Amino acid sequence: MKALKTNDQEVYQLVKSEESYQQSTIRLIASENYTSRAVLDACGTVFQNKYSEGYPGARFYQGQVNCDALETLAIDRAKKLFQVEHANVQPYSGSPANLAVYLAFAKPGDTVLGLNLNHGGHLTHGSKASATGKWFNAVHYSLNSETDLLDYDEILKLAMEHKPKILIAGHSAYPRQIDFAKFRDIADKCGAVLFVDMAHFAGLVAGGQHPSPVPFADVVTTTTHKTLRGPRGALILCKEVHAKAIDKAVFPGLQGGPHNATTAGIAVALKEAMAPEFREYAKEVVENAKCLAQELTARGFKLVSGGTDNHLILIDLTSKNITGKQMAVALEKAGIVLNYNTVPGETRKPSDPSGIRLGTPSVTSRGFGRNEMKLIAEYMDRTAGNIDNDEVLGSINKEVTELCAGFPVPGIEV
Ligand SMILES: *Cc1c(COP(=O)(O)O)cnc(C)c1O
Repeated sequence: MKALKTNDQEVYQLVKSEESYQQSTIRLIASENYTSRAVLDACGTVFQNKYSEGYPGARFYQGQVNCDALETLAIDRAKKLFQVEHANVQPYSGSPANLAVYLAFAKPGDTVLGLNLNHGGHLTHGSKASATGKWFNAVHYSLNSETDLLDYDEILKLAMEHKPKILIAGHSAYPRQIDFAKFRDIADKCGAVLFVDMAHFAGLVAGGQHPSPVPFADVVTTTTHKTLRGPRGALILCKEVHAKAIDKAVFPGLQGGPHNATTAGIAVALKEAMAPEFREYAKEVVENAKCLAQELTARGFKLVSGGTDNHLILIDLTSKNITGKQMAVALEKAGIVLNYNTVPGETRKPSDPSGIRLGTPSVTSRGFGRNEMKLIAEYMDRTAGNIDNDEVLGSINKEVTELCAGFPVPGIEV
């Protein structure tokens, strides 16, 4: 970063400061990860300088010889990794990718059916706060109030009653796997397009640790920066019959020129995800999550659905008499970074809900294993018991920093 250091000390210092923050804290944000240095390198290239509206071989600008080759490489890798007929690598991020699916398959006012935001759904699955909830008639299914699990009978009932154009499966905060065959069956019965948003668990699918939605869904979207461990961006994967509709929805339907430098980073991340080490990483992500879930349960934390099958854990703190925000703020003081989250049957407001969400992708990427999961559970337990005691929180922070020093973060040169 020689030129940055010379030309802009303020930004350079912020980058350095963020590097040291990411190195010295434990990141349990379920949607975050650490990309490799190769991914970061690919994102900071002269591909930033190119406009390439259109698709490889059919651009609206001349001078696309390298951009065409790059985007084709990314598309081919996405198709191979996820065993899918068609891939669009241009969406700027997960939310625009989802909007493109709505644009391709529905008209304003049409009915869509997705998971309730408070039960782990995403804003773009028809929340009233999102354009998707304002422009479409969004109906929501909830988790079973006794098991905290997806209730396929309830989803079928709602689907037959409301006849949605689009049936959405996928989540931002559901600690279990999804039965895509059941969703396919429901979509067939009610005549809906089945749209799976695998933003959170795409890396587990790529690494063979989660069933793939591809054989069942009409269309699948994913962010590239969560468990998949690439740069911030998204993919849309679909059957060939929907290829034209999806491509037209992304461009010119929603976007202008693709972010070619990000496409380069995505291509690198997809190559990495095909390597045997990535399978090992995905397996470790799940095993770490299961271990952390066990250790937290043993310390009296109440886990939504009682545990996890994937990379994330949702904790309802009501029984500990603290709120999600209190816990998240105290943990930040202790050097552990995560987010407060609503839980199924939430009674508090979204800005200070009853729960926290945590995930193991980032810590697994830096090499944490079972011993470190036990330590994290222990730090969290001590934090919960000393929620207002800055002295104790400060001493936990010291231990966290020392632990982190032994696990260099990928992508950061020490
Ligand atoms: C993160 C996420 C998104 C949105 O991704 P952004 O890149 O933040 O726009 C969409 N859907 C789900 C399920 C997500 O978890």
